[in-house]
Amino acid sequence: MASIMISMVYLIATFLFILGLKWLGKPDTAVKGNRYSAIGMGLAVVATLFEQDILSFTWIFAGLLLGSAIGYWIAQRVKMTGMPEMVALLNGLGGGSSLFVGLAATQVESMPNVLFWIVIAFSVIIGSITLTGSFIAWGKLAEKIPSKPFLLPGQKWISAALVAITLVLTVCLSLFPDIAMDTLLAIACIAGLLGMLSVMSIGGGDMPVVISLLNSYSGLAACAAGFATQNTLLIVAGALVGASGIILTNIMCKAMNRPLSNVLFSGFQSTKVTTLNDQTQGTAQPITADDAFIVLEAARQVLIVPGYGMAVAQAQHMVRELTEYLEANGCEVRFAIHPVAGRMPGHMNVLLAEANISYDLLLDLEDANATMETIDVGIVIGANDVVNPDARDNSESPIYGMPIINIDSAKTVLVLKRSMSKGFAGIENPLFFKPNVRMLFGDAKSSLQTLAGEFKNLG
Ligand code: NDP
Repeated sequence: MASIMISMVYLIATFLFILGLKWLGKPDTAVKGNRYSAIGMGLAVVATLFEQDILSFTWIFAGLLLGSAIGYWIAQRVKMTGMPEMVALLNGLGGGSSLFVGLAATQVESMPNVLFWIVIAFSVIIGSITLTGSFIAWGKLAEKIPSKPFLLPGQKWISAALVAITLVLTVCLSLFPDIAMDTLLAIACIAGLLGMLSVMSIGGGDMPVVISLLNSYSGLAACAAGFATQNTLLIVAGALVGASGIILTNIMCKAMNRPLSNVLFSGFQSTKVTTLNDQTQGTAQPITADDAFIVLEAARQVLIVPGYGMAVAQAQHMVRELTEYLEANGCEVRFAIHPVAGRMPGHMNVLLAEANISYDLLLDLEDANATMETIDVGIVIGANDVVNPDARDNSESPIYGMPIINIDSAKTVLVLKRSMSKGFAGIENPLFFKPNVRMLFGDAKSSLQTLAGEFKNLG
């Protein structure tokens, strides 16, 4: 009877996970999705406590209290810009849990067979790679370690040798079960080294893609741990995390027009083409805040393109203020959100939501481009690569083929940035030299403050 009840609760939890994931896909239902997934996880934890022969409730509750307290403390303190680092740490801990579940499962299984050892080895290998890889990713993002790609001489061969040794040790598990724990610890160390070396060799700017991939790994490791402990819910939850992580990685790679192999193996930063820099012709035309205000005052349709610079300047609240002034002046304002604007998936959505900008005002790339001909003024706030026309027009460009927001088709474009510096891709942007484009130089937040101030004075 009890086992039927537990299976029912697992089924409900699975349903809540799937529903939660579906809702997380849209900004206006994301909060609800997060809440339902958390309830599902709560139910799953409680049901699991009833399922197995619990060895020590004291340890479980001590861990629960300590873990919840640390999680709460960190979540309260993390800044929006620190989210990618936080996700990296959480992925690493997820991988670490699967590693330890894999090790512990060997202590309770009385009749291990070959399949059991394969599953355990998989859980330990992926768990360990995820643990160390995620910590390196965290270190690079938090600038605790240099973000430059770091490659050992002959690293390809070293990695191949490490993979080969883990495979041989995995075979040894079923041949010499008496020393299985020692073998598994050796596998964990080698896989950990592999995780560290692989992520060390990737540039800091590519860490968001790597984190998304490691997120997928942590799901696969949990899935393997689920097989090892014969826990259906862990298998399902792990598979969901694994699949959604790989889908997100794919979306990010597509939006950047870079195959995953290029992110993982070529070190984008070092292969950038710079020839375009010399080819760009013309002079950028600066504009003063006073003149930009006159342009905006006359506008009836405004499209704002936020980018990484808005996050750096923490200008989202000033963006909302300016939006309100523009709307009060009879102007319709919309936001064009590029899928990889900023430095993490959904970066712009999160910042705009933080500033209470309605989701109804946000347009995705295709919808924004479809309305471009009707736009009087496009305001580019700290965005660069995501509005670079070379991605569309210049087959020589390293970002050629990356979908962009065609803001250059708006009647007038105001670009808010501090200088003529390049964006993440490190390439020149011909948008800044187009005749319908004006550069409003300065920190995005203070430029917006000045513009909003002018509207305020208007009465
Ligand atoms: P970019 O990195 O291309 O450009 C940002 C611009 O912001 C810079 O040119 C900079 O110019 C400006 N800026 C910086 N600080 C300020 C400030 N305080 N005030 C005003 N402007 C400022 O950003 P995009 O969002 O356009 O593009 C994102 C890039 O990141 C893409 O290449 C994408 O592929 C990549 N990427 C995105 C990921 C994601 O998940 N979103 C993950 C990994 C990479 P200046 O210094 O002159 O002010």
